[in-house]
Amino acid sequence: MEKPPTTYHNATNPGIQYEAASLRLRFLTPLVAVIVLLVMVLAVSLFYFESESRSHGLIHERLTRTQTVAKDYYEKSVLNDANALRSIMNALLRDKALSEVFASYDREVLLADTEALFKELKRDYNVTHFYFTKPDRVNLLRVHAPGRHGDTIDRVTTLRAEQNSTLSYGVELGPLGTFTLRVVSPWHDSGTGSLIGYLELGMEIDHVIDRLRDIFGFDVAVAIQKNYLNREKWEDGMRVLGRTVDWDRFPNVVMSSEIYGELSPVLSDHFKKAKHIPGNDVIQVEQGDHSYWMLSMPLVDARGRSIAEMTLLADVSYEMNVVERTAIAVGISVFILGGLLIAFFSVQATRVSQRIEQEQNLLEQLATHDSLTNLYTRRMFHEHLENELVRSTRFNHPLSLLLIDIDKFKLINDTYGHPAGDKVLQKLSERLLKDSRGTDFLCRYGGEEIAIILPETDTDDAQEIAERIKLTVSALPIQFDDMQSLSVTVSIGVATYPQHGDTDTFLISAADSALYDAKQQGRNRVCTYRSKEKNQPLSRS
Ligand code: GH3
Ligand code: MG
Ligand code: MG
Repeated sequence: MEKPPTTYHNATNPGIQYEAASLRLRFLTPLVAVIVLLVMVLAVSLFYFESESRSHGLIHERLTRTQTVAKDYYEKSVLNDANALRSIMNALLRDKALSEVFASYDREVLLADTEALFKELKRDYNVTHFYFTKPDRVNLLRVHAPGRHGDTIDRVTTLRAEQNSTLSYGVELGPLGTFTLRVVSPWHDSGTGSLIGYLELGMEIDHVIDRLRDIFGFDVAVAIQKNYLNREKWEDGMRVLGRTVDWDRFPNVVMSSEIYGELSPVLSDHFKKAKHIPGNDVIQVEQGDHSYWMLSMPLVDARGRSIAEMTLLADVSYEMNVVERTAIAVGISVFILGGLLIAFFSVQATRVSQRIEQEQNLLEQLATHDSLTNLYTRRMFHEHLENELVRSTRFNHPLSLLLIDIDKFKLINDTYGHPAGDKVLQKLSERLLKDSRGTDFLCRYGGEEIAIILPETDTDDAQEIAERIKLTVSALPIQFDDMQSLSVTVSIGVATYPQHGDTDTFLISAADSALYDAKQQGRNRVCTYRSKEKNQPLSRS
């Protein structure tokens, strides 16, 4: 059985393993520590940044700015519409023919003269209301609803126009919860200057709210305070318009907007609160995974009353989650980078430790093996024999020792030269190693002497092994240069523990003595120790 010499001692060398492990530890521990520290610093700073930006400063500032812009836009739009209505109205007031028809208070003629005009105004300027009212504020004609007339108009815009005798305008809440921008002007006869009545144009302002929704991409809801509405009139109106009638859905408000049925749950929750009319508040709401900004502003009517609340709702989950996502992305990147670094250094550490292991193996090989024959050194032989004898004693097993000496080796040196002698030693050792069992221990004992420890082998088996070696060697052709080949013989001394010697010294002496006998008896033979005086140190005479 083959027994590669390098496997002895190496497979379980804890020193080498410890070296490699400690090397890895020295490389990787600081690296892992640095990566962990980096991740921690990053996480803490991102957390700090996120809570900073969430709680104060940045986001709140943006919200307030958005609210200002939205409010400004609403007010400017209403003002622009009011100016447009005023221009139209001024043009009508200068129309002499119309003035005469109005002054005649002939409803039929007035309607015939203004019907087409109303259609144009409706189409081009979104005008929805067109009134002619007598000086006592009794309605003469609603061009937009000619069937209804004769009632007294007492809306604040009309009252103001009457009181101040000048044009008045403002947003007013209708019984159906619609907001109408109204412009009312007294109409005087251009000749006499006497008051003919009042002209009124109106426009629903839903389109302003719709535009706000489009511009900001927000959900916009207008909630009207119930105490400014008449429940019955409102419910009737809703039925006529085909909208949902649900006066009791919220405690204090009804929705003016057409999105009533599909109101966002966040807004719905907001309006369910008993008290919610805000003073231009900006609120941040978290619902489920989503974050919202809610901007509220009061809508003021022509009398200066906060009759409704316009609420803008923006889903800002994306913005709010940017920091979180950045943190996750950076975390993953650091994790991957860290993993790659660890892998890289781990590979490097493994390479270096393998190199060290190889170097150590080589050093050990050099320290324990003879360089010419690759057999164990004599020092190793003694160490091993001692250990094996302890084991044999403990388990009560036999152990045999072979001492092999090349016959007439000096002659080979003398005849073929020293390198040829070396070659013989090499070839012989190579063959002996090849034929040995895994447990056999071969060593170069002296110049051309080889010792073999055979654990758990009694004398008979040892003799058999020795005989086989003797035959193998004598049949082994040794080529020492291109041309020449030679063969050698060996003499072998056999001694067995415990019967031939029960200590290493005695056993070596016995084997040596047997070898001497083999030489004496003519060489190329095997001799077993013949007891002369048992357990006495023996020496060659
Ligand atoms: P025998 O054992 O049969 O009595 O005769 P021998 O010629 O082998 O006797 P001896 O032990 O006196 O000679 C051994 C020789 O081996 C002497 C030495 O020059 C030679 N020798 C020892 N070590 C080496 C070595 O490493 N290389 C070579 N080439 N020769 C060596
Ligand atoms: Mg010899
Ligand atoms: Mg010798």
